[in-house]
This record gives sequence, C-alpha cells and structure tokens, in this order.
Amino acid sequence: MKVLICDATAQAALDMISEAGIEVVNKPDITPEELLEEIVEYDAMVVRSRTKVRKPVIDKAIKLKAIVRGGVGLDNIDVKYAGSKGIQVLNTPSASTAAVAELAIGYIFALARNIHQMTISMEEGEWAKKSFSGTEISGKTLGLIGAGRIARSVGQKANALGMRVIAYDPYVDEAPGIGMVEALDALFSSADYISMHVPYTKETHNILNAEAFEKMKAGVYVVNCGRGSTIDEDALFDALKSGKVAGAALDVYTEEPSMGHKLYTLEQVIGSPHIGAGTAEAKARVGTEVAKNVINALKA
Ligand code: NAD
Repeated sequence: MKVLICDATAQAALDMISEAGIEVVNKPDITPEELLEEIVEYDAMVVRSRTKVRKPVIDKAIKLKAIVRGGVGLDNIDVKYAGSKGIQVLNTPSASTAAVAELAIGYIFALARNIHQMTISMEEGEWAKKSFSGTEISGKTLGLIGAGRIARSVGQKANALGMRVIAYDPYVDEAPGIGMVEALDALFSSADYISMHVPYTKETHNILNAEAFEKMKAGVYVVNCGRGSTIDEDALFDALKSGKVAGAALDVYTEEPSMGHKLYTLEQVIGSPHIGAGTAEAKARVGTEVAKNVINALKA
C-alpha cells in the first residue's frame, strides 16, 4: 500500500502512516503535471487546499481508494466524481475550528483598534497618537454568516467579549448564545461586524455583493476567514472606497494564491494568505486525523 502526500503534512502524521506499514511518498510541492503522471501508482493521496483533485486526476488514479483532505473545505476535490469511482473522500472537520475562530476574533480586535495600520505608522517612525481612534467591540453586534462549527466557536468567544451575536444559516435552527435570524437582510441591517463562515457553494457565491453592502449599516466591518468567492471583491472594494464598509480582514480570496490584490491598495484592508488553520496545534490535530483516515481507509 502506498500513499502520496501532495501538500505539506506534519511529519508525525507521516510517521504514524509508515508505522502502520503503509509506504509514504512525501511530495508536498508536486505539480499538477507530475500528479497526473504519478497518481496511477497510489492507493491513497493526502491533500490540503493547494492540490486540485478533479476528473483528469481521478481518471488516472486507477488504484486509488481514498483522498484524504487535511482541513475542512472540499472545494478542491470533485467529491461526486470520486464517489462514482468508488473512491472515499475524507476530511478532518474539527481539527482547525479553534485556529480559524481565533483568527477571526483577532481580526475583529485588529479592525476595531487599527492595530495593523498603527504598526505600519510606528515602523515609519511616526508617533501618530491623534490619527488613530479606535472603537470597542463590547456591546456591538456580530453577524455570523453560517452557524457551523467555526461560527459557533467565534460566537462563543464573542459572547464572552460582550458582543451580541446573531447568525444566518438556513440549515441550522439554533445555536447556543447565538440569535438566529431568518433572513440575511435582518443580519445586514443590525450587524456592526460581519464574519463569514460558509463553504463555497452555488448558494454562497458572492453572498456579499453590491446589493448586500447597500443594506448594511454604515461603518460595518467585514471578516472573511471562510472561503473566497463568497464575497464579490469588486463590490467590497467599492464599499470600502465609499466608506460604507469601514474595514475588512481577509484570509481567503476568489483567486488563490492572490498576489498584488487590488483590495490591498486600501489601508483599511488587512489580511493573511489563507492561514486560518495555520497554528502549530491545528496542524498537529490535522496531521493525526489525516493519518487515522489514511490508515482506516487502507487497512479496513
Ligand atoms: P461547517 O460545515 O461546520 O459549517 C458551515 C455552515 O455553513 C453550516 O452550518 C451550513 O449549514 C452553513 N451554510 C451552508 N450554506 C449556507 C448558506 N447559503 N447560508 C448560510 N449558511 C450556510 O464548517 P466549519 O467547520 O464551520 O467551516 C466553515 C468554513 O470555513 C468551511 O466551509 C471552510 O470553507 C472554511 N475554513 C477556512 C479555513 C481557513 O484556513 N481560512 C480553515 C477551515 C475552514
């Protein structure tokens, strides 16, 4: 039995798989062309979000029994087509919840207090004490789009920080400490912060678009540690330029990798290169779950 590791995965996970008697080939920088050529030999493959597993790869993967995704989102994998070929697709749903939720909370603080902009000002040798006026998050309303694992964790932390938390999720009736709203408009009209926690689907495509920004409170802050393409980035740019949106914090983008993005020409935008799950603890948890998934799929 042989597993191909296509994206960076914790060494402890690779060791666990080897110890179970499965040969591990670690190629975390494998190119799409190399993958097409080599996948024929493997019984399982491990990916994160970088490697795309679509029909051409699946068609070549004649021995493949399992595609294991370290992380939550499965939008880089053609799950339906893999299923039609009898290939299991497994992910690690809870391993990154705390890491992503903490990043979203960090961004809420950073937006409220201009932490990033003040750091740049200090680096530039300024003492711009009068230029930066912050706001408090306590007493503000946080609107969560999605009320799944990560959103609930964000909601719990936000509650503890004195925020009122509401959420829109047509598939969830109730969540502890969170007031569910039945329509997005109700969230748009009352949220001071909007944090995105939905997967990318046809329904969530550009769920924050020009019309949505129109309906929001003036001076709202937007955080997206969920998925790219759930926000219309041109509409966000316009809403930031007009001041309707006071600031945005982004970890995910329509196109990834995203270098030289026009949103980063605006000083009220802060962000990161899709590292929501990038903590030492989450990586270790993802690694352990990946290893268990590979072993269960190949040894069952
Ligand atoms: P989850 O499946 O527990 O929650 C997703 C929620 O979205 C579900 O409750 C679902 O009902 C809801 N939803 C689906 N369609 C919706 C719609 N049209 N409107 C409102 N809600 C809708 O997933 P999770 O573990 O909470 O993760 C949420 C998302 O975060 C994932 O889909 C993933 O894309 C993203 N994520 C990002 C990172 C990162 O590194 N930035 C890491 C992990 C997960």
